[in-house]
Amino acid sequence: MQTAFDYIVLGAGSAGSIVAAELCKALPDSSVLLVEAGPKIAADENVIWDPTQWALVAQQGKWEWGYESVPQKNLNNRVIKIGRAKGLGGCAIHNAMVYVRGGYRGFDHWAASGNLGWSYKEVLPYFEKVEDTLLVTIAKSDPLIDALVAACRQQGIPYNANYNQNSDQVCIAPFQFAISPTHRRETSYSSFLPQTPPNLTVLTHCLIERIIIDNSQTARGVVLRDLANGTVREVSASQEVVLSAGTIGSPQLLMLSGVGDPDELAQFQIPVVSALPGVGKNFQDDLFVTAGFQSPQPLPPQPYGLMGTVIFANSTNHNPLLGTDLESSLATSSMAGMPGNLPKDSWYLYPNIQLLKSRGTVKLRSENPMDKPIIDPNFLDDPSDIQNCLDGLKLAMQIGNDTALSDWASEQLMPTQDDDLEAYIRQTADTCYHYAGTCKMGIDVDAVVTPDLKVRGVHNLRVIDASIIPTTVSGNTAAATMMIAMKGSELILQDT
Ligand SMILES: Cc1cc2nc3c(=O)[nH]c(=O)nc-3n(C[C@H](O)[C@H](O)[C@H](O)COP(=O)(O)OP(=O)(O)OC[C@H]3O[C@@H](n4cnc5c(N)ncnc54)[C@H](O)[C@@H]3O)c2cc1C
Repeated sequence: MQTAFDYIVLGAGSAGSIVAAELCKALPDSSVLLVEAGPKIAADENVIWDPTQWALVAQQGKWEWGYESVPQKNLNNRVIKIGRAKGLGGCAIHNAMVYVRGGYRGFDHWAASGNLGWSYKEVLPYFEKVEDTLLVTIAKSDPLIDALVAACRQQGIPYNANYNQNSDQVCIAPFQFAISPTHRRETSYSSFLPQTPPNLTVLTHCLIERIIIDNSQTARGVVLRDLANGTVREVSASQEVVLSAGTIGSPQLLMLSGVGDPDELAQFQIPVVSALPGVGKNFQDDLFVTAGFQSPQPLPPQPYGLMGTVIFANSTNHNPLLGTDLESSLATSSMAGMPGNLPKDSWYLYPNIQLLKSRGTVKLRSENPMDKPIIDPNFLDDPSDIQNCLDGLKLAMQIGNDTALSDWASEQLMPTQDDDLEAYIRQTADTCYHYAGTCKMGIDVDAVVTPDLKVRGVHNLRVIDASIIPTTVSGNTAAATMMIAMKGSELILQDT
C-alpha cells in the first residue's frame, strides 16, 4: 500500500467522512487517506439501514467498541454502557438518526466565550451545506401524536412546524431524521462518500495506534495496526493529520501521542510533546429519564426509530443564555429494540436532560492503544443537575396525564405512585450518548484546540469531531458534529 499521503483523516465517523469527502473534492491533486477501525457496512445490512431497527444495532456487538463507564456514584454505582460504533459512518450507523441543529443560543455562547467565527449566524451556512447532501425527513403525525400536541398546548407548550428553522423555542414539533425518501438511514459516509473519489484511500479494520510528532512539534504521520493480521506500519502526511476519532478516541490518541496532562502521561512513561492538561477533561453528556403510560387502545405503528415528535422545554434551572434544556423523545413498546417485558400498547416519554453542569473524564488505562480508556462521565456530580432531571420527569408526567391524552393513557406505569422520584432517577437515568468536550475548542488554559481547530503546541494537527464542542448545545450532537466537520474542512482549505 501507498505509505505517503498529503492528508490523513483518522476515523470515518460523522465528522471524518465529511472532512475526507470535502478535502478530496476541493483538492483533486492531493491524496487523502481515511482510516477506520471498523468495517464497511454492506448494502444489505438491513438492521443498520432500516430506520425502524436502530435500537437493535447497538445490541449487536460487532459494530461496537464495547465501552463502559466506571461505576457512577450518583447513579447508585451503576456501570453505564457507553455506546460507540465502529465502521464507515461511525456513530451514525447506530444512532437514532435524530437531526437537531441545536438552539442558536448555544453557538452564540461558543462565540461569546472567545471562539470567534462560531456564532449561530456564522455556523448556519455550514449546517445548510451539510443539509444540501444529507437527506433529512420531517416525520409525519399520527393520532397519538395529535393528542400529544393537544396535551402540550394545554400545558402551555406551543406547536412548532420546524425546530431547525425556529430554534431554541419551547415547543412540540415533528421530529426530523437523517432518513432518505426511500426510507433508508443516512450516515455522513453513505451520503458524502457514496463512491470513493480517485484521490481517496480508505483503510478499514485498521487501528490508529498513535500520531507521529517530530522534534519540531510537527505531525508527520501515523502508526497503524492492521486488525486482520496484526501488521504495524507507519504512514506519512505531507500536509495535515486530522483527528476525527470522536469524544473518546480523539483524547485517547492525543495522549498516546504525547499530547495531554504531563502528570497523566508520566504514569505511562509517554514523553510529553505538548502539555495540554485539558485533554480528556470536560467530558459532557445528557441524561434521560423515563415516564411510561398504558394505552387502553392499540397504538399507531411507528415508521421511524423513535416516535415522530419531540418536545423542547425548560427546567427551573435553565440558563436563558444557553437555550432550552429539556428535549423529550418518545417511543412505543412495540418498537424494535425496546425491552421485551414492556406491557403491550404502552408508550414512553424520555426527557433528555441537557446542558448539565457535571463534567467527566476520559483517561488512559495504559500505554497500549488496544486497551479501552477509563471513562467517567461523573453524572450528577454537580448538585444542581438532579433538579433538572426532576423537572424533566415531572413535565413528562404532567404531559402524559393531561386530559387531552385520556384516550391514550389509562395508567401511569413508571414511575409508580410509590416511587420517590429522586431515588427513581438515580436508579433508572441513563446516557443519551451525546458525548462531547474532551478536546475542547477555546482560548483558555484548558483548551485543547484553537478556534481554527489546531491542536495547541503542535503543527499540522487538527481535531475535527464532537470532542471539540466546548459546551453542549440544546439538541442532539450529530448535526452539530457534521457542521463542525464542514467548517473544519473549510478551515483546512483556507490554509492551503
Ligand atoms: C446509540 C447512539 C444513539 C445516538 N443517537 C443520536 C441521534 O439520534 N441524533 C444525534 O444527533 N446524535 C445521536 N448520537 C450521537 C451522535 O451519533 C454522535 O455525537 C456523533 O456521531 C459523533 O460523531 P464523531 O465524528 O465525533 O464520532 P464518531 O461518529 O464516533 O466517529 C469516530 C470514528 O473514529 C473511529 N475510531 C476511533 N478511534 C479509532 C482508532 N484508534 N483507530 C481507528 N478508528 C478509530 C471510530 O470507529 C468511529 O468510526 C447517538 C449516539 C449513539 C452512540
